[in-house]
Amino acid sequence: MVANNRKRVLITGGAGFLGSHLCDKLVKGGNEVLCVDNYFTGTKQNVSHLLGNPFFEILRHDITFPLYVEVDEIYNLACPASPIHYQHDPVQTTKTSVHGAINMLGLSKRIKARILQASTSEVYGDPSVHPQTESYWGNVNPVGIRACYDEGKRCAETLFFDYYRQHRLPIKVLRIFNTYGPRMHPNDGRVVSNFIVQALRNDAITIFGDGSQTRSFCYVSDLIDAMTGFMETPLEFTGPLNAGNPVEFTILELAETIITLTGSRSRITNKPLPHDDPKQRCPNISLAERELGWKPKVGLEEGLKKTIDYFDKNL
Ligand code: NAD
Ligand code: UDP
Repeated sequence: MVANNRKRVLITGGAGFLGSHLCDKLVKGGNEVLCVDNYFTGTKQNVSHLLGNPFFEILRHDITFPLYVEVDEIYNLACPASPIHYQHDPVQTTKTSVHGAINMLGLSKRIKARILQASTSEVYGDPSVHPQTESYWGNVNPVGIRACYDEGKRCAETLFFDYYRQHRLPIKVLRIFNTYGPRMHPNDGRVVSNFIVQALRNDAITIFGDGSQTRSFCYVSDLIDAMTGFMETPLEFTGPLNAGNPVEFTILELAETIITLTGSRSRITNKPLPHDDPKQRCPNISLAERELGWKPKVGLEEGLKKTIDYFDKNL
């Protein structure tokens, strides 16, 4: 820690969608941020507005290789998050999740830094418990096309808790549910960005399956508040902790809302449902409400309007 309580914070995956918003918040809060990224899905443009700031530094690095730096806190976000991207090179996805976690936990152990893992609702797989509570162990196909990500993230959680039990590391495991907002990659295939881009171009809106599957969509600023709030909690509170918006929508409802908000002439078209696509997903966030005093503030329409505005200016 430096003299004036300015924390030195490492953010892996800091040039990605969530990471760049986290960089913004922590720099603005008076911290010194080291953003580490291999630019697999993130871009320098996401953080270009921070580059002249003396308290912001960026390093091209792949976390599957060891990293030697000195910081007070680590947020481990590096990992492609969209199915198209994480299935593009599934072996690398598992390596990033598992070797990356080992490297970052090793770093945390050496320098005694708090470490937060960006885990995911995908650890619940296609859930048979609804809404999902942290005590549910999940229903994941270990050999399917989503397994590189789901099982990679599950193994990372195992590593975090083993380092906690074995070495008393100060860990925080956050299970993030579908989050959206400005700086999502326009071609990453995630549903919110896909539908907005299609609607703005008046292209067909591609619903996979019949659109009855559900998701709960959290606006990025809410999610980042949960992440930083969790990092500040007492050491013994490790999680796993759900963070997401508990209001559930079908994918068809999402498509219709985006068509209305954009005033688009797009029509809906149905495409085959990908393998192992979860039928429903919705977080139970009572634990975050109780331990962090946190709940999402931004409703779907408000968040979609901000996201549409971003894509409108940046496509
Ligand atoms: P993203 O793809 O925009 O960001 C991931 C970042 O990690 C990118 O900048 C990418 O270049 C970088 N990266 C990937 N592999 C790397 C490696 N080996 N070394 C260094 N950098 C690497 O995705 P996001 O939505 O910002 O997700 C961030 C994290 O949050 C991920 O770990 C993801 O699993 C988790 N998460 C996100 C969501 C969501 O809805 N956005 C939901 C659940 C979990
Ligand atoms: N989806 C869709 N059309 C698209 C992209 C996604 O209908 O163009 C569906 C997808 O099948 C899934 C849901 O939207 O049921 C959310 O997909 P996303 O890839 O955003 O996230 P995840 O499946 O990981 O929750």
